[in-house]
Amino acid sequence: MKVTEHIKNANGKTQFSFEILPPLKGQHIQSIFDNIDPLMEFKPPFIDVTYHREEYVYKELENGLLKKQVVKKRPGTVGICAAIQNKYGVDAIPHILCGGFTKEDTENFLIDLDFLGIYNVMALRGDAVKTETYFRPEKEGHAYASELVNQIQELNQGNYLDDDLQNSSKTNFCIGVAAYPEKHAEAPSLESDIHFLKKKIKKGAEYIVTQMFFDNEKYFKFVEKCRNEGIGVPIIPGLKPIATKKQLNLIPHRFHVDLPEALILEIIKCQDNTQVAQVGMEWCIQQSKELQKAGIPVLHYYSMGKSDNIRSIAQAVF
Ligand code: FAD
Repeated sequence: MKVTEHIKNANGKTQFSFEILPPLKGQHIQSIFDNIDPLMEFKPPFIDVTYHREEYVYKELENGLLKKQVVKKRPGTVGICAAIQNKYGVDAIPHILCGGFTKEDTENFLIDLDFLGIYNVMALRGDAVKTETYFRPEKEGHAYASELVNQIQELNQGNYLDDDLQNSSKTNFCIGVAAYPEKHAEAPSLESDIHFLKKKIKKGAEYIVTQMFFDNEKYFKFVEKCRNEGIGVPIIPGLKPIATKKQLNLIPHRFHVDLPEALILEIIKCQDNTQVAQVGMEWCIQQSKELQKAGIPVLHYYSMGKSDNIRSIAQAVF
């Protein structure tokens, strides 16, 4: 079922969903199931699976020279989605990127999803690879997520890249896109970011999932601005409980979000990461309860490969 239908069918009840990462190459899929199993009692209508593009690493050769190698550390997004749908009967949502994909790759990826009965897709640009400062699209690829949304919608109309294939089988994807209550790192302003977010909706995206945030006010203000700009689709908040002291520096650096002073002070006081995880969970529970009270249709948790704290939060909230 489509995400939009899940929201409609819930009749105003706030639902629980989460995002997982494919395991590192070499690990068994059981590691994914072990993370999902404890969360199934909260009846997620859908589970997102992230996509990780190739990275460039330098390997030292016997003669001391360095060799540039392309590696994909977390392959398997589509396979995991198919396995989740098969095992749990829950809709799995693969993330798809502009980065690393030509338009032809995108079309073939979408055909695979269609054949597997996967009908939701999260369309993203992706970040620059570590060896580059700015995002560089493939020569025959997309520079922005809005272009990717457009291609998916074209396929939904039965318009393939090859003109000879017009009037072929139509796909029926429900498309989600990303948004940033504290603005995307590269955007000159929140207003310009919302301008381009609107473009993604105009091209056919049907719902939005936000970057994590730790201050609900930022989310509420962002939603208000989007509504004032005429963006009417569901805006699903993304939530992440802080679990380690290291994340105090890592999260603002990697995700370009602010941590509230009160949360920072609580974490600094902690003696070890067990205490940090407790503080992080309590903060996230408070955020979740307030969002639930405000009638938000879905709360979406970034599990980042660990389900224990997400389970405790879900027990307190749902
Ligand atoms: P876009 O919507 O293309 O926006 C990128 C930037 O370009 C923004 O600053 C925007 O304002 C600007 N912009 C957009 N259109 C134009 C235009 N026409 N002209 C000028 N500027 C423009 N990354 C992964 O690698 N894998 C994942 O699975 C993944 N999942 C994610 C899930 C969520 C919910 C979120 C919030 C992020 C996720 N990301 C993931 C990270 C994402 O790929 C990065 O944040 C990326 O830098 C931006 O992606 P986007 O789709 O928001 O890009």
